[in-house]
Amino acid sequence: MNKKHIQPFMRPDQFNFIRAQVRNLVDAHTTVKDEDVIKALKFSSLEKALTLFPSIDKELEPLLNRMVEIEKAVEAEKYLEELNAYVIPFRNISEKTVQKLFPKAKKLKIPFLEEIDFKHLSYIGWYDIRSSRKYLIVEIDGKLKGLSGTFQESNRKGICTLCNGYEEVGLFMSKVKSGKETYLSRGNYICQDSQTCNQNMTTRTKLDDFVTLLNQN
Ligand SMILES: [Zn+2]
Repeated sequence: MNKKHIQPFMRPDQFNFIRAQVRNLVDAHTTVKDEDVIKALKFSSLEKALTLFPSIDKELEPLLNRMVEIEKAVEAEKYLEELNAYVIPFRNISEKTVQKLFPKAKKLKIPFLEEIDFKHLSYIGWYDIRSSRKYLIVEIDGKLKGLSGTFQESNRKGICTLCNGYEEVGLFMSKVKSGKETYLSRGNYICQDSQTCNQNMTTRTKLDDFVTLLNQN
């Protein structure tokens, strides 16, 4: 085993993307009989994965290249476990940080702060029963942004604005400054369960757009 210090370079959404590609390849191996089709699929999967990391360390390229050698589900899970070590975790969040991000919310707490697996989060999201609002914390360009809004469960499945998954969604309504004293209400359907949402996210584009659009601070 190589005991070299591991330098995380992969965002959780990028990890999710590669996971989807790898699982897709495993599926193809069981359903597609045509070798040329498999070959083409391998090539395009790898290309898509490498495109995510244009300035990747040359030493890490073999790690990604190995994804095309995977044929079985067991191998895939083993590989993903190894890849997992390279995922950049979400920044540690203290209760003080939460208060700073949401100065108007008194005594706001992230539930289960100690239990959150920060490794696989593109954003932290939770529903606060006391204020009946949903809170999101996202890091953009090294800065933490906090968004909050009312949240109404829709009790049905729909496409989530953030992860693009088909999940149980609810309406997130927030106020956006549109002038000096004027505000605009904006509503978006997002996943009820933020853990599921984070798991689904294979690109951050929509999350970043969402934060930019609704930026409140
Ligand atoms: Zn979602």
